Amino acid sequence: MNATVILLGPPGSGKGTQAERLRDGSGFALVATGDLLREARAAGSELGHRAAEFMDRGVLVPDELIIAMVAEAVAALDSKPVVLDGVPRTVPQAVELDALVRAHARELTAAILIDVPDDEVVRRIQGRRQGRTDDTPATARERLRVYHRETEPLVRHFQERGLLRRVDGAQDPDSVEHEVRAALA
Ligand code: ADP
Repeated sequence: MNATVILLGPPGSGKGTQAERLRDGSGFALVATGDLLREARAAGSELGHRAAEFMDRGVLVPDELIIAMVAEAVAALDSKPVVLDGVPRTVPQAVELDALVRAHARELTAAILIDVPDDEVVRRIQGRRQGRTDDTPATARERLRVYHRETEPLVRHFQERGLLRRVDGAQDPDSVEHEVRAALA
């Protein structure tokens, strides 16, 4: 069955970097919900309009919008392994994703938690500011709060399913990549 790998971690943990490395180095297809939402905004689509206000406040876009968007992205994949960056972010999204993975005869291979302490996250986001409308210090702090409240419960969710792999994200990207690959081996 086709591998499906989830990357979990706080904003600024380097999920995006590691997801791109899996795509470029190991032939994974990449589904990155933050990027898909930013593309939808840039295209001026209905989804983009609806998502914008949530993104700019640093809060989560409603589950039903995310689930529909991810269902479409996964349906468009061929039989490649896929890495998911930024989804699931809530327990209902995880439940829906399970159903989606089964419906496409895929297999949830692992949920890799890229672990980075809060103070390091704040430092990184402040240094980043890549012109994203949601990378202001106040929104960054809100995204981190939202992570702890709504996404961190997924650590236990995946742990209970035997799928959680923990990686030390407070290292340089090459070392993190090494640990990610080891977790998938
Ligand atoms: P980061 O991980 O740095 O917070 P992302 O690019 O993954 O950045 O996400 C940016 C924003 O897009 C989030 O703050 C949220 O508003 C929205 N978003 C992305 N993925 C999801 C998701 N799975 N569920 C709800 N909202 C999401």
